[in-house]
Amino acid sequence: MTNRRQFLRNATLTVAGSALAINSRTAAANVPVSTTVNAKKELGLQIYSLGRELAPDVPGGLKKVAQMGYTVIELAGYNSEGKIGAASMADFKKYADDAGLKITSSHLNPPAREYTKDNLEQIKDFWKKAAEHHAAIGCKYIIQPGQPSTRSTEEVAYVGEVFNEAGKIAKAAGLQFGYHNHNGEFARVVPGGTEPLPASRGFGRPPEGAKIIYDAMLEATDPELVQFEMDVYWTVMGQKDPVAYMKKYANRIRLLHIKDVAVLGESGMMNFPKIYETAYANGIKDYFVELENYTGGTQFEGVKGCADYLLKAAFVK
Ligand code: MG
Repeated sequence: MTNRRQFLRNATLTVAGSALAINSRTAAANVPVSTTVNAKKELGLQIYSLGRELAPDVPGGLKKVAQMGYTVIELAGYNSEGKIGAASMADFKKYADDAGLKITSSHLNPPAREYTKDNLEQIKDFWKKAAEHHAAIGCKYIIQPGQPSTRSTEEVAYVGEVFNEAGKIAKAAGLQFGYHNHNGEFARVVPGGTEPLPASRGFGRPPEGAKIIYDAMLEATDPELVQFEMDVYWTVMGQKDPVAYMKKYANRIRLLHIKDVAVLGESGMMNFPKIYETAYANGIKDYFVELENYTGGTQFEGVKGCADYLLKAAFVK
């Protein structure tokens, strides 16, 4: 049934597909779906995945990304001058438009890692300017991917307050603020702590008042102001089950990073069918492929491998 459905899907795209360069290696591997764009699937890519390979030719690189089957991108590298690398936000938007890619999200970090009453205004100013720049290009989300200093439950609670402020600023500009995790957020902190406790402490109960940083961040933030973009790979690396989190916090985890050790589906340690099943059940529409540490070829080849995997996968609608 799946093959027939995919065949019909592709048949309707013959015209669009014939305009695309077909990768002969993939075609030779007899993978029919991956050689044409499947218009039914919305595939997001975090452009950080392309590493340094995108910078020399952003317009051409984004066209390649679209030809692989990606339809949406999440930016990375917004700097204090309001640029992505050498490109202004407006230029970057034009390159994406020309390639037929939508920009829905962007990763950016405020200028301080340790949040204090003293630098709150500086952080708020950063978000104000960033929100303005991103609203101007029609972006939907501004997402912080860097973990602030969170050594104690008190520090996490204050980070939550600052996130709420960022959320208000984003909202006023018509955007949504979000936070993206790595594995460090699954460590525990205690009241008055000076450093996080490792995620795994072997047997025994955690100390009195200990909280998982990620859970404490969820608790400390207003659902109207702060959403979470769960990086499913880094959650597994934090010794937690991303599906359990998605089920427990269905109204908070609204975006995903779809990531594996390298090319999606190759390691066998990520349960992508279950992750997608849960994402659909929760109505999650925004997800972005991310590739890091790829050594099997160029980053572009690795990113294409990820698209091929998702385009072929029956569990991706
Ligand atoms: Mg990520």
